[in-house]
Amino acid sequence: MREAVEQLLLPAECLLCRALFSFRDAGRLVCDVCRHRWRPVRPPWCARCGQPEPSFGRCRLCAEWPAAFGVARSAVWLDAGAREAVHALKYGGLSRIAAELAAAMVALELPGVESAWLVPIPLGRARFRDRGYNQSERLARALSRRWGRPVVELLVRTRDTAAQTALTPEARLANVAGAFSVRATRAGAATPGHGPGVTPPGRPLVLVDDVFTTGATLAEAARALDRAGAHTVSAVTFGRAVVPDFT
Ligand SMILES: [Zn+2]
Ligand SMILES: [Zn+2]
Repeated sequence: MREAVEQLLLPAECLLCRALFSFRDAGRLVCDVCRHRWRPVRPPWCARCGQPEPSFGRCRLCAEWPAAFGVARSAVWLDAGAREAVHALKYGGLSRIAAELAAAMVALELPGVESAWLVPIPLGRARFRDRGYNQSERLARALSRRWGRPVVELLVRTRDTAAQTALTPEARLANVAGAFSVRATRAGAATPGHGPGVTPPGRPLVLVDDVFTTGATLAEAARALDRAGAHTVSAVTFGRAVVPDFT
């Protein structure tokens, strides 16, 4: 319903460059030119967190990640165009753009994705109320249509956290510590020998979020799943921020 209204109210032009769409593409939001400007994140990278390798030494970004958290991948660098698309998803009320972002994420390779559950990063209650939807859940649903894997909202946010934007990597970790818990699911509860809220061990879980900055939020979410017995957790995001140098 909301999407139908959006489509009626919005002119058929690219959200990013304002180029007009042909009638056939009137349902689109981002044109091919802008989409091709998104800069894919490519190897060489840390095999685990997908961040470009440091010039010397081991990757520090994922050193403290919980054991179950194996791989994180992002589709594109968060340059101006990609950032604008994420903003439209998060603050512009354009949840329909999730399909365009998901299209850029489809080719990301993750272990066990063919049997995985997609787990969106939940929003805190206050932010969900303001926004009316969870952008990560919209992204997960759009990916679900492409990958044919179910979305299972396993995680809940136990508290609203401060906006991460202005925080150092260490402060980000502290900010999200204990922010997630695993909720009981019908599938989880139906698994013999596992209490409510425990995910079926062996089932790969793929966390879905819009942006990877330092990975602190994803690592904390993975920690909650790890504690609940998950064996394989990976993560996908649309954008990857260039980590600012805080030192
Ligand atoms: Zn465009
Ligand atoms: Zn790493």
